[in-house]
Amino acid sequence: MIRYCTRCLYPETKPDLSFDAHGVCSACSSYEKRAEVDWAARKREFLQISERYRAGNGENYDCIVPVSGGKDSTYQVIRLLGLGLNPLCVTATTDSLSDLGRRNIENLKKLGVDHIEVAVNPVIRRRLNHMALAQIGDISWPEHLTIFTIPVRMAVQFGVRLIVWGENPQNEYGGPAAAATDNTLSRRWLEEFGGLLGLRVTDLIGQVGIEKRHLIQYAYPSDEELKRVGVTGVFLGHYFPWDGFTNAIIAQAYGFETFPRLVEGSLASYENLDNHQTGIHDYFKFIKYGFGRATDIANNHIRRGRLAREDAVEMVKRCDGAYPHTCLGRSLKEILAEIDMTVEEFDRICDRFTNKRLFVRDNQGDLARDGQGNLVKVNYDNP
Ligand SMILES: [Zn+2]
Repeated sequence: MIRYCTRCLYPETKPDLSFDAHGVCSACSSYEKRAEVDWAARKREFLQISERYRAGNGENYDCIVPVSGGKDSTYQVIRLLGLGLNPLCVTATTDSLSDLGRRNIENLKKLGVDHIEVAVNPVIRRRLNHMALAQIGDISWPEHLTIFTIPVRMAVQFGVRLIVWGENPQNEYGGPAAAATDNTLSRRWLEEFGGLLGLRVTDLIGQVGIEKRHLIQYAYPSDEELKRVGVTGVFLGHYFPWDGFTNAIIAQAYGFETFPRLVEGSLASYENLDNHQTGIHDYFKFIKYGFGRATDIANNHIRRGRLAREDAVEMVKRCDGAYPHTCLGRSLKEILAEIDMTVEEFDRICDRFTNKRLFVRDNQGDLARDGQGNLVKVNYDNP
């Protein structure tokens, strides 16, 4: 039996999640603390920070904003422009950029910002995707590294001292207390909480023809470089109440486009729109830990009173962890062909990373699947 949070639908199998005596998870407890926050004071605090770091003379940018072109980064840029800041927007190109993702990046630029897109060597990247999927069951490992390293590298390169990140993922999604309350993103944060699963960049050198020179953009700047420029990173979600759904509504008024239906395996049409590989990443989260993107989205709604827990259970049962036959409309076969992998190899890797105790098995002990090829969890709620 999987034990779930009594307030939301996170299972105890979620990494770094803890439960209190009432069976409430740390993500819910952390969210609850938001009610005590004096948001007006936090906003003043942010204005003070931005004043301190503002370039002033018009000779440089006031801050770096890492942007994927998604709803959150579109909202961040709208917010910062509204506060009179002049950001340099930096995109670390996603692994398998969708047409919709491209249109949303172009839309973001039209908000009126300078923008840099750093695209790493795709030949090397494909090898890294393949290797990370096969070795640690996370196709997005290289992307989750460069979305952090590239904006920090650009800050050093352009001499911009302030980086404004979006939300602290450890806050809404639960994590160690120190990570959730930290309002700054540092090397330590990245190493401990950035989801790098214990694989280090230096581990890659020498594998499948990868050399140090291929990994320049994957390295976090040195402490000396950071100190020389005086780079600080803050989470905007610490200073303004953060809600992905609201961000999407705001972003749409500024031209942000959504997917025409729910994204596969999710309960939203307004996020994770830019990378065909994300569906694979989320599927692995499901087979390893028993929850996928649909659970994350349902929980965000439950905590904000927009969805009853009992309805969410049924929605998650229908949508969460769907086998990724397609991701953002592209077939699994096509997506895998890009990283030189067959569907058969993919299925073997899936099997290796599936936590078999979480799913229904047949009399032979093999994983049972429904008519659509989806795994079925042993239980979807507490008894
Ligand atoms: Zn919870």
